[in-house]
Amino acid sequence: MPAIARFSKKELIELIETTEAAGNDTTELRSLLAEVEQDEEHIVIGSRPNDDDYVAELRGKSYIEHGTDLECMVCHDKFDQLISGTCEVCFRKWVLSTKKR
Ligand SMILES: [Zn+2]
Repeated sequence: MPAIARFSKKELIELIETTEAAGNDTTELRSLLAEVEQDEEHIVIGSRPNDDDYVAELRGKSYIEHGTDLECMVCHDKFDQLISGTCEVCFRKWVLSTKKR
C-alpha cells in the first residue's frame, strides 16, 4: 500500500478506525502508525508533495506574533504579524529551503 505514506498521522489514525469498524485487519496500518510516531518529522517532510501544505503545517507549529511595526529578522521590513520572527514571505522561503525534495 504505497499510497498510505502520503497520509498524515491523523488521517492514518482515522483510517485505522474506519478499517477496524469495517471488521478488517489493521496490523499493517498499525505498524505504519508506529513508524510515523517513531520518526514523525521524517515522514512528514518526506510525504508532503505540496509546498503550500508543507508551509501551512510548519506555520501551524510556529510561534505567531501579532502587533504593530514588528520587524522581520530576515528582510527587516515592518509587518503586523510575524511567524517565528519572520514575515510570511521570508518564512515561506525558509521553510521551502529546508524541505527535502
Ligand atoms: Zn521578511
